[in-house]
Amino acid sequence: MSQQVEIVEVAPRDGLQAWREPIATEARIGLVERLRAAGATRIEVGAFVAPDRVPRMADTAEVMAAAGSREQAGDMVLVANRRGLDQALENGARAIAVFTAASDAFAQKNIGRTVDASLERFAPLVATARAAGVFVRGYISTITDCPYAGEIRPDAVASVARALYGMGCGEIALGETLGRATPRRIAAVVEAVAAHVPMSHMAAHFHDTYGMGVVNVLEAVRLGIRTVDAAAGGLGGCPFAPGATGNVATEDVLYMLAGEGYETGLSMERLLDAVAYCETDLGIAPVSRVYKAHRGA
Ligand code: MG
Repeated sequence: MSQQVEIVEVAPRDGLQAWREPIATEARIGLVERLRAAGATRIEVGAFVAPDRVPRMADTAEVMAAAGSREQAGDMVLVANRRGLDQALENGARAIAVFTAASDAFAQKNIGRTVDASLERFAPLVATARAAGVFVRGYISTITDCPYAGEIRPDAVASVARALYGMGCGEIALGETLGRATPRRIAAVVEAVAAHVPMSHMAAHFHDTYGMGVVNVLEAVRLGIRTVDAAAGGLGGCPFAPGATGNVATEDVLYMLAGEGYETGLSMERLLDAVAYCETDLGIAPVSRVYKAHRGA
């Protein structure tokens, strides 16, 4: 099996969307530039969503323009609806992501409709995007646990994954939103989804709330997943999932993968520069262990 693992850097969107303070557009652009300089070939640069609900993403068009996203097939933006898709296309997005959940309760709170209703709404968006030559990722959050509904059954995740894949999503991102699961439960979900979606079309999107992010990534990679989401500095957390802390940190994932013999194309030194920039220019203190160890903190 390939020893190449592709890291999708989600800090500029997932990492920043819930930050409580305003963030200068220049700083968001600077972060994308530094992540690119570190070797990130896939970056979630922003989102076209309701600016009153997610104000940190309101300048996504400017970030895309300054970051040259029209020329970058790996730059991705999240869209919530038809209007968001239109904005993404107008701004030259080459890849978009749509977002649903494995839990109706979470979907209702987060996107205001049931899972099935969200899938119905996404189907024509995915078709339109694909007709425009745009790659589509489908996120599924709460793959093991929901803050409202408790434990989620793997077959519930598999059924959403099958629907998203069937409508034309080229990648299914499995989001362990609460960061509670251990590898055994990750494996159960991946195996259930693998009945409907090839491993090469799955991505692991894990959180570090209970310190399980890196071991869960290792489990996903051992099972054959070759696309892993991570956020520089461990930035992020879901605004609608109480208690959920950051995305697994890119530098923690990189440290583990490199030590285990996997290639990612990322430079640790330059990645740590990007993480330091979060601290100096975005005013967000990184939480990752590898960064702290590197800084001697
Ligand atoms: Mg996340």
